[in-house]
Parts: sequence; C-alpha cells; structure tokens
Amino acid sequence: MSEKIGVNAYIVGGYVRDKLLNLESDDIDITVEGDGIKFAFMLNEILNGEMEVHDKFETAKIKTKDFELDIVSARKERYERPGMLPVVQRASLADDIKRRDFTINMLALDVKTNQIIDIYNGGNDIKNKLIRVVHDKSFVDDPTRIFRAIRYSGRLGFKIEQHTERLLRKSISDGDIFNVSADRIMNEIYLILKEKKPEPIVELMKYYQINKELFCGIKINATNLNTSPKEGDILLYRFLLLFYNATKEDADCLIRKYNLKREYLSGLSDILNIKMNMSKLNENASIFNTLKDKRIEAISAVHIMEDLNTKQAIEKYYDMVKLKRLEINGDDIKRLGLQPSPIYKQILDKILLDKISGKIKDRE
Ligand code: ATP
Repeated sequence: MSEKIGVNAYIVGGYVRDKLLNLESDDIDITVEGDGIKFAFMLNEILNGEMEVHDKFETAKIKTKDFELDIVSARKERYERPGMLPVVQRASLADDIKRRDFTINMLALDVKTNQIIDIYNGGNDIKNKLIRVVHDKSFVDDPTRIFRAIRYSGRLGFKIEQHTERLLRKSISDGDIFNVSADRIMNEIYLILKEKKPEPIVELMKYYQINKELFCGIKINATNLNTSPKEGDILLYRFLLLFYNATKEDADCLIRKYNLKREYLSGLSDILNIKMNMSKLNENASIFNTLKDKRIEAISAVHIMEDLNTKQAIEKYYDMVKLKRLEINGDDIKRLGLQPSPIYKQILDKILLDKISGKIKDRE
C-alpha cells in the first residue's frame, strides 16, 4: 500500500518496543516519509475505521475496533528555547527517529519489508533493560523527558543507564523542569497516574528527588497508588492519594499553580475536612454528617490510607448510603410537583439519620 502511493511507511516507537518485549499494545504510531495524511486516507479505505485529521500538524488518527493508529509525516524538530515546544519541519525517517526520547523508542519497522531499522542500538538496550538518551542535551531540551524516563523505568522495570542517569540528576538539580509550562507538567503527572501501576514510578520520583517546589513543597505519597476507588474517577482518586499529605495552604497553592478543575479542589478540601473530623468518627450521626457531602474519591482515599477505626467508620457509611439508596430521593419529590429546594435534602438526610440511629423503626 505504501508503495502504491510512493511513500515509505514505518511503525515506530512504543509498538515496536512492546512487540520486542512481548507486551500487548493496541496503539500503533506510523511515520510516513512524505504525505502522511494522504497515506492515512488510503489506509483507511482498507481499514474502514473512524478517522480524524489535523492538517496543521500533518497528523491523522484512525480508530478501529481493535487498535488505534497515529499517522504522522516524518519530521525533524529544532528547540529554539529549552523547555518550549520545538519548531517542526518535514524530514526523513532518520531525522524523525533522532528527535525521539530514548533508544528503546527509536526502533522502526518498515511496513514494506517487515525489517526492523535500529539506528541507535535500541534493540540492545531493550535486551539489557536500559533507558538511554542519545545526546547530552536531551533533558535540557525537553525536561518532561525526566518524567518520561522515570515512567518507562518504573513501568518496564528498566534501569536508567549510568550516563543518562547522570544527565537526569543534573537536569533535576539545575531545575530545568521550571522552564516547562504548568500544563505540560500536570499532563506528565496524569500520564503517570493513568499507568496500570503508578506506585514504582512515584517511588522513583521520590528517589530522584524531583523538585519539591514543583508541587508546592508537598511530600508526595507513593503508597496505595496501584488501587482503584470504590466508585468514581480513578485519576482524581490517585491524584488525591499522591497529594494526600497536602495542608490547606499546599492545596491552595497546587490549585492556583496548575489551574486544576473544580473537582480536584473539592477533593483536596474534602480530605482535609475528613482528616480534621477523624477523631469524631465513632457514632453513626457524626460519621454520616462528616461524610455525607464528600466526594466518593476522597472518602475512598481516606479509607485506604487511614487506620482500622477510620476504615470501619467509612464502611459503616457505605452501608448507610446503600440503605439511603433504597429510600425516597429528590427525584420522588420532584415527581410530586414540588419545587427543588435544599430543604428537601436536609429533610431526607434527617430522616435517614433518625433511621440509622434507631429513632425511626423500619416498617415490616
Ligand atoms: P506508551 O507506551 O506510553 O504509549 P509510547 O512510546 O507510545 O509509549 P507516546 O507518549 O505515545 O509514547 O509517544 C510516542 C512516541 O513519541 C514515543 O515512542 C517517543 O519516542 C516519542 N515522544 C513522545 N514524547 C516525547 C518527548 N517529550 N521527547 C521525545 N520523544 C517523545
């Protein structure tokens, strides 16, 4: 097919790496020497997937039932200022490979011949389980690679090669990361938290002493990060675990610095509030009143982090909520034609609480 339109196409990056490691991967990156978009259109005539095209970046995405393909025209990049996004222009496969982060991501599979092209000896590094950069300015040019190195190392159980590690440590201590925008930093944090197992990765962030000021001085937490919440959003839950040690001032700073969404703000303040009332979580009324308006992700985070007493109190609350779901709710009230009002919630909460505390008996 690539022959038919006179271009060379290569599978590159993570897919080739994971294939050599016998790992499953359904994200395939294709680099085309020439017009990537034209290639994508022709490919999709065969695949019949859903296609999105970004003319400006000369990229296309095809989604099929089984996999997702990202197609780009081979490009080279020039960093005008460290930490900023690079200037991009069309180029050969060799140029395209050169701009990549680590040798393990620098292998390409020629679609025509099925041959692996390995200019930087990435195959050897995969065999020896090593993360290696190919030039000394790599972390300075793009300090998000500090997070990427740590992420691959934690995910794959690879070591950061000695010279690369020296460069990484220097980049951390020189504070190169402060040249990167808040959005890009938070994006790296989200990528880490979305991993199947973020725990070893965050352990490495601590080991390499990733600049604390980046996170408003908060001592990040690595425990329990491989878990999921009882319900709700897994990313928010893990974010709350990562910053479980934040004080009120820390949380305010984090929200301001990263312009975080409302639920992140309320999650952080819910945790602080639950922690403050923890000593009171000993009878049903106070358990219910402390937890009733809190985000489920925050409650789940406290549940996994705290001692047995708190865990038991939260489990009691889960039982109460289950009970509450069997009762009437706001929708029933609306159905009666009454205007929505917070007073109904207060009434329902009060009835439930009286029921829990035995003041109202269950009807037979
Ligand atoms: P994953 O398994 O995490 O999806 P991936 O290798 O597919 O790994 P992506 O983040 O999807 O990673 O990036 C695709 C490719 O683009 C990578 O293989 C890497 O070579 C390159 N890349 C991504 N970010 C950078 C960066 N900051 N600097 C250099 N190369 C990068």
